[in-house]
Amino acid sequence: MNLAKRLQLIKPSPTLMVTVQVAALRRQGIEVIDFGAGEPDFDTPEHIKEAAIAALRQGQTKYTPVGGTAALKEAIIAKLQRDNGLTYSLQEVTANCGGKHTLFNAFHALFGEGDEVLIPAPYWVSYSDMAILAGGQPKLLPTSEETGFKITAAQLQAALGPQSKALILNSPANPTGAAYSEAELRQLADVIERSNVFVISDDVYEKFLYDSPRCPHLLALKPHLRDRVLVVNSVSKTYAMTGWRLGYAAGPRELITAIETLQSQSTSNPNSITQAAAVAALTGTQEPVERMAREFAKRRNYVVARLRAIPGISCTLPEGAFYVFPRVSAYFGTRWQEKTITSAMDLSLYLLQEAKVAVVAGEGFGSADHIRISYATSMQNLEQGLDQIEAALRRLGGPSPGT
Ligand code: PMP
Ligand code: GLU
Repeated sequence: MNLAKRLQLIKPSPTLMVTVQVAALRRQGIEVIDFGAGEPDFDTPEHIKEAAIAALRQGQTKYTPVGGTAALKEAIIAKLQRDNGLTYSLQEVTANCGGKHTLFNAFHALFGEGDEVLIPAPYWVSYSDMAILAGGQPKLLPTSEETGFKITAAQLQAALGPQSKALILNSPANPTGAAYSEAELRQLADVIERSNVFVISDDVYEKFLYDSPRCPHLLALKPHLRDRVLVVNSVSKTYAMTGWRLGYAAGPRELITAIETLQSQSTSNPNSITQAAAVAALTGTQEPVERMAREFAKRRNYVVARLRAIPGISCTLPEGAFYVFPRVSAYFGTRWQEKTITSAMDLSLYLLQEAKVAVVAGEGFGSADHIRISYATSMQNLEQGLDQIEAALRRLGGPSPGT
Protein backbone atom coordinates (compact mmCIF):
# COMPACT_ATOMS: atom_id res chain seq x y z
CA MET A 1 0.00 0.00 0.00
CA ASN A 2 1.43 3.31 -1.01
CA LEU A 3 0.42 5.54 1.89
CA ALA A 4 1.15 9.23 2.21
CA LYS A 5 4.67 9.98 3.45
CA ARG A 6 3.42 11.96 6.41
CA LEU A 7 1.89 8.80 7.89
CA GLN A 8 5.39 7.35 8.16
CA LEU A 9 6.30 10.15 10.52
CA ILE A 10 3.83 9.25 13.26
CA LYS A 11 2.86 6.22 15.34
CA PRO A 12 -0.44 5.06 16.82
CA SER A 13 -1.24 6.70 20.17
CA PRO A 14 0.44 4.49 22.83
CA THR A 15 -2.19 5.39 25.44
CA LEU A 16 -5.04 4.30 23.21
CA MET A 17 -3.07 1.18 22.20
CA VAL A 18 -3.08 0.01 25.82
CA THR A 19 -6.88 0.23 25.88
CA VAL A 20 -6.96 -1.88 22.71
CA GLN A 21 -4.56 -4.47 24.22
CA VAL A 22 -6.64 -4.73 27.40
CA ALA A 23 -9.84 -5.24 25.41
CA ALA A 24 -8.16 -7.98 23.32
CA LEU A 25 -6.92 -9.83 26.43
CA ARG A 26 -10.35 -9.58 28.07
CA ARG A 27 -11.96 -11.03 24.96
CA GLN A 28 -9.67 -14.04 25.41
CA GLY A 29 -11.05 -14.41 28.93
CA ILE A 30 -7.89 -13.09 30.61
CA GLU A 31 -8.61 -10.83 33.59
CA VAL A 32 -6.58 -7.66 33.35
CA ILE A 33 -6.61 -4.66 35.65
CA ASP A 34 -6.41 -1.52 33.56
CA PHE A 35 -4.20 1.27 34.89
CA GLY A 36 -3.65 2.47 31.34
CA ALA A 37 -6.79 4.33 30.45
CA GLY A 38 -6.61 8.07 30.91
CA GLU A 39 -10.31 8.51 31.53
CA PRO A 40 -12.45 8.90 34.65
CA ASP A 41 -14.09 5.63 35.69
CA PHE A 42 -17.15 7.58 36.90
CA ASP A 43 -20.30 7.67 34.83
CA THR A 44 -21.35 10.89 33.11
CA PRO A 45 -23.55 12.78 35.64
CA GLU A 46 -27.26 12.15 35.25
CA HIS A 47 -28.33 15.74 34.49
CA ILE A 48 -25.92 15.78 31.55
CA LYS A 49 -27.35 12.58 30.12
CA GLU A 50 -30.87 13.94 30.59
CA ALA A 51 -29.98 17.04 28.57
CA ALA A 52 -28.76 14.81 25.75
CA ILE A 53 -31.93 12.73 25.83
CA ALA A 54 -34.06 15.89 25.76
CA ALA A 55 -32.05 17.24 22.81
CA LEU A 56 -32.56 14.01 20.95
CA ARG A 57 -36.31 14.06 21.62
CA GLN A 58 -36.54 17.69 20.55
CA GLY A 59 -34.96 16.80 17.22
CA GLN A 60 -31.60 18.45 17.69
CA THR A 61 -30.26 15.93 15.24
CA LYS A 62 -29.10 18.16 12.41
CA TYR A 63 -25.88 19.93 11.44
CA THR A 64 -25.07 22.86 13.68
CA PRO A 65 -22.88 25.88 12.99
CA VAL A 66 -19.30 24.67 12.37
CA GLY A 67 -17.83 25.78 15.71
CA GLY A 68 -20.87 24.84 17.76
CA THR A 69 -24.31 26.24 18.57
CA ALA A 70 -24.69 29.73 20.00
CA ALA A 71 -25.94 28.10 23.22
CA LEU A 72 -22.74 26.09 23.54
CA LYS A 73 -20.53 29.06 22.74
CA GLU A 74 -22.37 31.11 25.38
CA ALA A 75 -21.84 28.28 27.88
CA ILE A 76 -18.12 28.16 27.09
CA ILE A 77 -17.85 31.95 27.46
CA ALA A 78 -19.65 31.79 30.82
CA LYS A 79 -17.38 28.97 32.02
CA LEU A 80 -14.20 30.83 31.10
CA GLN A 81 -15.47 33.92 32.93
CA ARG A 82 -16.62 32.01 36.02
CA ASP A 83 -13.68 29.65 36.44
CA ASN A 84 -10.76 31.48 34.88
CA GLY A 85 -11.73 35.16 34.97
CA LEU A 86 -11.32 35.40 31.19
CA THR A 87 -13.62 37.39 28.92
CA TYR A 88 -14.30 36.22 25.37
CA SER A 89 -16.82 36.98 22.64
CA LEU A 90 -18.70 34.52 20.41
CA GLN A 91 -16.16 34.98 17.60
CA GLU A 92 -13.31 34.07 19.93
CA VAL A 93 -14.46 30.60 20.99
CA THR A 94 -14.94 27.36 19.10
CA ALA A 95 -16.02 23.80 19.87
CA ASN A 96 -14.52 20.69 18.30
CA CYS A 97 -14.76 16.89 18.45
CA GLY A 98 -12.71 16.48 21.66
CA GLY A 99 -9.81 18.38 23.15
CA LYS A 100 -7.52 16.29 20.99
CA HIS A 101 -9.31 17.56 17.91
CA THR A 102 -9.13 21.13 19.20
CA LEU A 103 -5.36 20.73 19.50
CA PHE A 104 -5.14 19.02 16.11
CA ASN A 105 -7.00 21.91 14.48
CA ALA A 106 -4.93 24.51 16.30
CA PHE A 107 -1.63 22.85 15.40
CA HIS A 108 -2.64 22.70 11.75
CA ALA A 109 -3.80 26.29 11.79
CA LEU A 110 -0.58 27.51 13.40
CA PHE A 111 2.38 25.38 12.39
CA GLY A 112 4.19 24.96 9.12
CA GLU A 113 7.57 23.93 7.78
CA GLY A 114 10.40 24.72 10.18
CA ASP A 115 8.22 25.99 13.03
CA GLU A 116 9.53 24.84 16.36
CA VAL A 117 7.01 23.69 18.95
CA LEU A 118 8.39 23.78 22.49
CA ILE A 119 7.09 20.85 24.50
CA PRO A 120 8.06 20.28 28.14
CA ALA A 121 8.89 16.58 28.57
CA PRO A 122 7.60 14.14 29.75
CA TYR A 123 4.66 15.20 27.62
CA TRP A 124 1.27 13.86 26.58
CA VAL A 125 1.81 11.40 23.74
CA SER A 126 -0.05 13.31 21.04
CA TYR A 127 1.65 16.73 21.20
CA SER A 128 4.78 15.68 19.35
CA ASP A 129 3.11 13.57 16.68
CA MET A 130 0.47 16.22 16.05
CA ALA A 131 3.18 18.88 15.71
CA ILE A 132 5.05 16.68 13.21
CA LEU A 133 1.88 15.94 11.26
CA ALA A 134 1.24 19.65 10.95
CA GLY A 135 4.76 20.13 9.56
CA GLY A 136 6.24 21.56 12.75
CA GLN A 137 9.32 20.47 14.64
CA PRO A 138 8.90 19.42 18.27
CA LYS A 139 11.62 20.74 20.57
CA LEU A 140 11.55 18.92 23.88
CA LEU A 141 12.36 20.72 27.11
CA PRO A 142 13.44 17.91 29.45
CA THR A 143 12.37 17.92 33.08
CA SER A 144 12.93 15.43 35.88
CA GLU A 145 11.96 14.65 39.46
CA GLU A 146 14.49 17.27 40.63
CA THR A 147 12.37 20.12 39.26
CA GLY A 148 9.08 18.37 40.03
CA PHE A 149 8.76 17.63 36.30
CA LYS A 150 8.39 21.35 35.59
CA ILE A 151 10.39 23.59 33.27
CA THR A 152 12.11 26.59 34.78
CA ALA A 153 12.06 30.15 33.48
CA ALA A 154 15.80 29.96 32.75
CA GLN A 155 15.30 26.76 30.77
CA LEU A 156 12.51 28.32 28.73
CA GLN A 157 14.59 31.42 28.09
CA ALA A 158 17.51 29.28 26.88
CA ALA A 159 15.28 27.15 24.63
CA LEU A 160 13.63 30.07 22.84
CA GLY A 161 15.08 30.85 19.43
CA PRO A 162 14.07 32.55 16.19
CA GLN A 163 12.25 29.42 15.00
CA SER A 164 10.22 29.00 18.22
CA LYS A 165 6.61 29.36 17.21
CA ALA A 166 4.76 28.04 20.24
CA LEU A 167 5.03 26.62 23.73
CA ILE A 168 2.68 23.94 25.00
CA LEU A 169 1.71 24.38 28.64
CA ASN A 170 -0.24 21.58 30.30
CA SER A 171 -0.84 22.09 34.01
CA PRO A 172 -1.77 19.82 35.77
CA ALA A 173 0.12 17.63 33.34
CA ASN A 174 -0.34 14.29 31.72
CA PRO A 175 1.61 12.02 32.48
CA THR A 176 3.36 13.44 35.56
CA GLY A 177 0.54 15.25 37.38
CA ALA A 178 2.88 18.22 37.82
CA ALA A 179 1.17 21.60 38.25
CA TYR A 180 2.77 25.04 38.27
CA SER A 181 2.32 27.20 41.33
CA GLU A 182 1.42 30.85 40.85
CA ALA A 183 5.03 31.90 41.57
CA GLU A 184 6.40 29.39 39.02
CA LEU A 185 3.86 30.40 36.38
CA ARG A 186 4.62 34.08 36.92
CA GLN A 187 8.30 33.42 36.22
CA LEU A 188 7.46 31.57 33.01
CA ALA A 189 4.97 34.28 32.08
CA ASP A 190 7.71 36.94 32.38
CA VAL A 191 9.84 35.03 29.87
CA ILE A 192 6.87 34.48 27.56
CA GLU A 193 6.04 38.18 27.74
CA ARG A 194 9.54 39.17 26.61
CA SER A 195 9.43 36.75 23.63
CA ASN A 196 7.16 36.40 20.59
CA VAL A 197 6.21 32.84 21.36
CA PHE A 198 2.59 31.72 21.11
CA VAL A 199 1.23 29.64 24.00
CA ILE A 200 -1.21 26.78 23.82
CA SER A 201 -2.55 26.30 27.32
CA ASP A 202 -4.00 22.81 27.63
CA ASP A 203 -6.20 23.05 30.71
CA VAL A 204 -8.04 19.73 30.45
CA TYR A 205 -7.02 18.67 33.98
CA GLU A 206 -7.61 22.05 35.65
CA LYS A 207 -10.32 20.72 38.00
CA PHE A 208 -8.15 17.91 39.27
CA LEU A 209 -5.71 19.73 41.51
CA TYR A 210 -5.38 18.33 45.01
CA ASP A 211 -3.66 20.01 47.91
CA SER A 212 -1.98 22.92 46.09
CA PRO A 213 -3.87 26.22 45.97
CA ARG A 214 -5.45 26.92 42.60
CA CYS A 215 -3.15 28.89 40.35
CA PRO A 216 -4.60 31.75 38.29
CA HIS A 217 -4.66 31.22 34.53
CA LEU A 218 -1.64 32.48 32.59
CA LEU A 219 -3.96 34.99 30.92
CA ALA A 220 -5.34 36.16 34.24
CA LEU A 221 -1.75 36.93 35.26
CA LYS A 222 -0.93 38.61 31.92
CA PRO A 223 -4.17 39.72 30.23
CA HIS A 224 -2.25 41.66 27.56
CA LEU A 225 -0.95 38.31 26.18
CA ARG A 226 -4.46 37.60 24.94
CA ASP A 227 -3.42 37.67 21.26
CA ARG A 228 -0.73 35.11 21.93
CA VAL A 229 -2.56 32.46 23.93
CA LEU A 230 -5.00 29.74 22.94
CA VAL A 231 -6.93 28.34 25.89
CA VAL A 232 -7.83 24.69 25.27
CA ASN A 233 -10.20 22.66 27.38
CA SER A 234 -12.55 19.71 27.11
CA VAL A 235 -15.54 18.19 28.83
CA SER A 236 -13.90 14.72 28.67
CA LYS A 237 -12.08 14.64 32.00
CA THR A 238 -13.98 17.29 33.95
CA TYR A 239 -17.40 15.70 33.47
CA ALA A 240 -16.45 12.08 32.78
CA MET A 241 -17.48 12.50 29.12
CA THR A 242 -14.57 10.97 27.21
CA GLY A 243 -16.79 9.10 24.76
CA TRP A 244 -18.94 12.10 23.91
CA ARG A 245 -16.06 13.93 22.17
CA LEU A 246 -16.25 17.62 22.87
CA GLY A 247 -13.34 20.00 23.28
CA TYR A 248 -13.19 23.76 22.96
CA ALA A 249 -10.83 26.68 22.60
CA ALA A 250 -10.76 30.40 23.19
CA GLY A 251 -8.24 32.70 21.59
CA PRO A 252 -7.51 35.36 19.00
CA ARG A 253 -10.32 35.73 16.49
CA GLU A 254 -8.10 35.09 13.47
CA LEU A 255 -6.94 31.74 14.87
CA ILE A 256 -10.47 30.71 15.88
CA THR A 257 -11.67 31.52 12.35
CA ALA A 258 -8.82 29.45 10.88
CA ILE A 259 -9.71 26.51 13.14
CA GLU A 260 -13.32 26.73 12.01
CA THR A 261 -12.32 26.92 8.34
CA LEU A 262 -10.30 23.74 8.81
CA GLN A 263 -13.17 22.13 10.69
CA SER A 264 -15.67 23.15 7.98
CA GLN A 265 -13.60 21.11 5.52
CA SER A 266 -13.18 18.10 7.79
CA THR A 267 -15.60 17.17 10.59
CA SER A 268 -18.18 19.97 9.91
CA ASN A 269 -19.31 20.37 13.53
CA PRO A 270 -19.16 18.50 16.83
CA ASN A 271 -22.01 16.05 17.44
CA SER A 272 -25.25 18.00 18.00
CA ILE A 273 -26.47 15.87 20.93
CA THR A 274 -23.09 16.12 22.62
CA GLN A 275 -23.23 19.89 22.30
CA ALA A 276 -26.52 19.97 24.21
CA ALA A 277 -24.99 17.71 26.87
CA ALA A 278 -21.94 19.96 27.10
CA VAL A 279 -24.15 23.01 27.71
CA ALA A 280 -25.67 21.18 30.70
CA ALA A 281 -22.21 20.14 31.88
CA LEU A 282 -20.72 23.62 31.70
CA THR A 283 -23.70 25.53 33.11
CA GLY A 284 -25.21 22.99 35.52
CA THR A 285 -24.17 21.95 39.01
CA GLN A 286 -20.43 21.46 39.42
CA GLU A 287 -20.94 19.21 42.44
CA PRO A 288 -20.14 15.94 40.58
CA VAL A 289 -16.78 17.42 39.54
CA GLU A 290 -15.92 18.25 43.13
CA ARG A 291 -16.94 14.74 44.19
CA MET A 292 -14.69 13.17 41.56
CA ALA A 293 -11.78 15.39 42.56
CA ARG A 294 -12.15 14.39 46.23
CA GLU A 295 -12.15 10.72 45.25
CA PHE A 296 -9.11 11.13 42.97
CA ALA A 297 -7.21 12.84 45.80
CA LYS A 298 -7.77 9.83 48.09
CA ARG A 299 -6.68 7.41 45.40
CA ARG A 300 -3.58 9.45 44.58
CA ASN A 301 -2.45 9.30 48.20
CA TYR A 302 -3.05 5.58 48.35
CA VAL A 303 -1.24 4.79 45.09
CA VAL A 304 1.79 6.93 45.89
CA ALA A 305 2.14 5.38 49.36
CA ARG A 306 1.88 1.86 47.94
CA LEU A 307 4.41 2.52 45.18
CA ARG A 308 6.88 4.14 47.55
CA ALA A 309 6.75 1.00 49.71
CA ILE A 310 7.99 -1.16 46.80
CA PRO A 311 11.79 -1.53 46.83
CA GLY A 312 13.45 0.39 43.99
CA ILE A 313 10.37 2.40 42.96
CA SER A 314 10.48 6.13 43.48
CA CYS A 315 7.46 8.27 42.91
CA THR A 316 6.91 12.03 43.16
CA LEU A 317 3.62 13.17 44.63
CA PRO A 318 1.64 14.50 41.66
CA GLU A 319 -0.20 17.76 42.34
CA GLY A 320 -3.03 17.04 39.95
CA ALA A 321 -4.55 15.09 37.02
CA PHE A 322 -5.11 11.37 37.69
CA TYR A 323 -1.76 9.84 36.90
CA VAL A 324 1.37 8.89 38.78
CA PHE A 325 4.65 8.55 36.96
CA PRO A 326 6.97 6.35 39.04
CA ARG A 327 10.61 5.76 38.14
CA VAL A 328 11.15 2.07 37.51
CA SER A 329 14.70 2.05 36.16
CA ALA A 330 15.97 0.25 39.28
CA TYR A 331 14.47 -2.89 37.76
CA PHE A 332 16.50 -2.61 34.56
CA GLY A 333 19.00 -5.44 34.42
CA THR A 334 16.62 -7.98 35.98
CA ARG A 335 15.73 -10.99 33.86
CA TRP A 336 12.45 -12.43 32.62
CA GLN A 337 11.99 -15.33 30.19
CA GLU A 338 15.67 -15.44 29.20
CA LYS A 339 15.60 -11.71 28.42
CA THR A 340 17.00 -8.72 30.28
CA ILE A 341 14.54 -5.95 31.13
CA THR A 342 16.16 -2.75 29.90
CA SER A 343 13.35 -0.25 29.47
CA ALA A 344 9.97 0.91 30.67
CA MET A 345 8.52 -0.81 27.61
CA ASP A 346 10.02 -4.16 28.70
CA LEU A 347 8.81 -3.70 32.26
CA SER A 348 5.28 -2.74 31.12
CA LEU A 349 5.11 -5.89 29.02
CA TYR A 350 6.28 -7.91 32.02
CA LEU A 351 3.59 -6.33 34.22
CA LEU A 352 0.92 -7.01 31.64
CA GLN A 353 1.92 -10.66 31.23
CA GLU A 354 2.94 -11.54 34.77
CA ALA A 355 0.97 -9.16 36.99
CA LYS A 356 -2.01 -8.89 34.63
CA VAL A 357 -1.96 -5.14 35.08
CA ALA A 358 -1.86 -2.73 32.14
CA VAL A 359 0.22 0.43 32.55
CA VAL A 360 1.60 2.78 29.89
CA ALA A 361 5.34 2.63 29.22
CA GLY A 362 7.08 5.98 29.60
CA GLU A 363 8.66 5.94 26.13
CA GLY A 364 5.56 7.42 24.47
CA PHE A 365 5.74 10.32 26.91
CA GLY A 366 9.46 10.83 26.34
CA SER A 367 10.95 8.79 29.21
CA ALA A 368 12.22 5.21 29.12
CA ASP A 369 12.75 5.23 32.90
CA HIS A 370 9.13 5.64 34.01
CA ILE A 371 5.74 4.05 33.66
CA ARG A 372 2.38 5.82 33.88
CA ILE A 373 -0.30 4.52 36.17
CA SER A 374 -3.76 6.00 35.89
CA TYR A 375 -5.68 5.97 39.15
CA ALA A 376 -8.95 6.77 37.43
CA THR A 377 -10.20 3.37 38.48
CA SER A 378 -11.90 1.98 41.59
CA MET A 379 -10.14 1.71 44.94
CA GLN A 380 -10.71 -2.02 44.78
CA ASN A 381 -8.93 -2.25 41.41
CA LEU A 382 -6.11 -0.11 42.74
CA GLU A 383 -5.63 -2.32 45.78
CA GLN A 384 -5.66 -5.51 43.75
CA GLY A 385 -3.57 -4.15 40.89
CA LEU A 386 -0.91 -2.79 43.21
CA ASP A 387 -0.80 -6.10 45.10
CA GLN A 388 -0.20 -7.83 41.78
CA ILE A 389 2.43 -5.32 40.65
CA GLU A 390 4.25 -5.58 43.98
CA ALA A 391 4.25 -9.38 43.89
CA ALA A 392 5.42 -9.46 40.26
CA LEU A 393 8.26 -7.03 40.95
CA ARG A 394 9.35 -9.13 43.94
CA ARG A 395 9.42 -12.17 41.66
CA LEU A 396 11.87 -10.32 39.44
CA GLY A 397 14.28 -10.58 42.33
CA GLY A 398 14.07 -6.97 43.43
CA PRO A 399 15.85 -3.98 41.97
CA SER A 400 19.31 -4.47 40.53
CA PRO A 401 22.13 -3.90 43.03
CA GLY A 402 23.51 -0.42 43.32
CA THR A 403 20.29 1.32 42.24
N1 PMP B 1 -4.83 17.04 26.58
C1 PMP B 1 -4.32 16.12 27.44
C2 PMP B 1 -3.15 16.50 28.26
C3 PMP B 1 -4.86 14.84 27.51
O1 PMP B 1 -4.36 13.96 28.36
C4 PMP B 1 -5.93 14.52 26.66
C5 PMP B 1 -6.37 13.07 26.63
N2 PMP B 1 -7.57 12.85 27.03
C6 PMP B 1 -6.46 15.51 25.84
C7 PMP B 1 -5.88 16.74 25.80
C8 PMP B 1 -7.62 15.29 24.93
O2 PMP B 1 -8.73 14.73 25.52
P1 PMP B 1 -10.13 14.67 24.75
O3 PMP B 1 -9.82 14.58 23.29
O4 PMP B 1 -10.80 13.46 25.26
O5 PMP B 1 -10.84 15.93 25.08
N1 GLU C 1 -5.47 11.40 27.15
C1 GLU C 1 -5.79 10.12 27.69
C2 GLU C 1 -4.52 9.39 28.05
O1 GLU C 1 -3.48 9.97 28.03
C3 GLU C 1 -6.68 9.35 26.75
C4 GLU C 1 -6.00 8.69 25.59
C5 GLU C 1 -5.46 9.68 24.63
O2 GLU C 1 -6.23 10.43 24.05
O3 GLU C 1 -4.23 9.70 24.52
O4 GLU C 1 -4.57 8.25 28.38
